[in-house]
Amino acid sequence: MDLIYTSTRQGKEKVKASEAILKGLASDGGLFVPETIPTLDADIDDLAKMDYKQTAFVVMRKFLTDFTDEELQNCIDKAYDSKFDTEEIAPLVKADGAYYLELFHGATIAFKDMALSILPHLLTTAAKKNNVKNDIVILTATSGDTGKAALAGFADVPGTKIIVFYPKGGVSPIQEKQMVTQKGDNTFVVGINGNFDQAQSGVKALFSDKELAKELDAKGYQFSSANSINIGRLVPQIVYYVYAYAKLYAEHKIAENEMINVVVPTGNFGNILAAYYAKNMGLPINKLICASNDNKVLYDFFETGKYDKNREFFLTTSPSMDILISSNLERLIYRIVGEDNDKNQELMNSLVNNGSYEITPDVKAKLKDFYGNYASEKETAEKINDLYKKTGYIIDTHTAVAAKVYDKYKAETQDETKTVIASTASPYKFTRSVLTSIDAKYDALSDFGLCDELSKLGNVKIPNAIEEIRNAEVRHNTVCETNEMKNVVVSFLSK
Ligand SMILES: *Cc1c(COP(=O)(O)O)cnc(C)c1O
Repeated sequence: MDLIYTSTRQGKEKVKASEAILKGLASDGGLFVPETIPTLDADIDDLAKMDYKQTAFVVMRKFLTDFTDEELQNCIDKAYDSKFDTEEIAPLVKADGAYYLELFHGATIAFKDMALSILPHLLTTAAKKNNVKNDIVILTATSGDTGKAALAGFADVPGTKIIVFYPKGGVSPIQEKQMVTQKGDNTFVVGINGNFDQAQSGVKALFSDKELAKELDAKGYQFSSANSINIGRLVPQIVYYVYAYAKLYAEHKIAENEMINVVVPTGNFGNILAAYYAKNMGLPINKLICASNDNKVLYDFFETGKYDKNREFFLTTSPSMDILISSNLERLIYRIVGEDNDKNQELMNSLVNNGSYEITPDVKAKLKDFYGNYASEKETAEKINDLYKKTGYIIDTHTAVAAKVYDKYKAETQDETKTVIASTASPYKFTRSVLTSIDAKYDALSDFGLCDELSKLGNVKIPNAIEEIRNAEVRHNTVCETNEMKNVVVSFLSK
């Protein structure tokens, strides 16, 4: 029996995993969710012996039931290979009493690689299974991180092309260099004279342009999205929580069935939702600790039961968490309102119309697995400095938000449960913020000068992702106006 995915909104659409991956978003605008969350029935002693790929296989086959074992294994083998700079794929590092789960050893040194290295293979396999003859064209607007991770994932994957739009002048110099030097004949990177919102709106307009879809279909292409609401991104993220637990057990850090806490620096709510799914599969997770930066809309929600995006928006040193609408939260809401489509739809309508919604006290009571808090800019910088001074371990700004929130949780609760902190980016991705947290004098250094200094200070080798762009040739130099995006797409696909 195949696991069926249904939409959080009207719930009429019922599809298998491969169709949900192909579609991304349900036709009614809702998110695909599994009708039941499967149980993890693997024995912990068996899990303890597994490497990352083997763990991925046992976890993902529970969710992607219409993929054959061979198809799934093939996707996993292509994803978690030498693109990662360690065979462990996601190592655990103990520092100051907590376990940091380093999710940044992939091609772009941020945790998006964990899912975006496998998504292209899931997507092309899903296309084959569903007799899609067209090539898949991934269209993405990026404020920096997602674009590069998607480019790296899709580069040279047969049957796909990828087009990334970014705001020219609106991403960091390293981020821009990472994107414009991207290799792969099927990749196309375009700067737009506009901001991220304009890039995003432009992409949305292209997705809903029916004439364009027809024109592309005649040429053998169809659009798809690598967005974080795709279940093809969510499911691979469940894997590393199971892997981390099994590793702690294998290394005798925890006993059988011993509970652990998980702390996740959160933006769109995808990563922490994966941990929630892992808990619902039966993984012994106690608290899911949701960490926010100054954009603390989630903290307020966990405190009050009211989600309210009507507030000041802050640009912080943890930009991947600068989000006021956490899209994946809808999947949690759907679950805590008792999988009631109408109730969920009502709340989401309120979010569109009023920018806010409020859950009832009995629904809020179902959030007891979660703890929310936030770290200010000052607290985040202090945490990087404190941890470095105490242990020599250097963490990035996003991870520091999580580490600080964990400190607050412990001070509040005195809970001594062993805890895993999701470390979502390499400090090399945010060198300036990281190093100036340790000493303001580093601000005088150039971007690559900062990397060299960080390497000395933290005693870690500069990752390939940085070394390879130092002298890399620029391969993409197209810049366009926001009203030219369609022409640019058509001309790229006519080559
Ligand atoms: C995307 C991202 C996050 C936020 O993850 P969500 O799944 O969107 O909550 C946190 N840290 C880094 C470095 C990221 O790139």
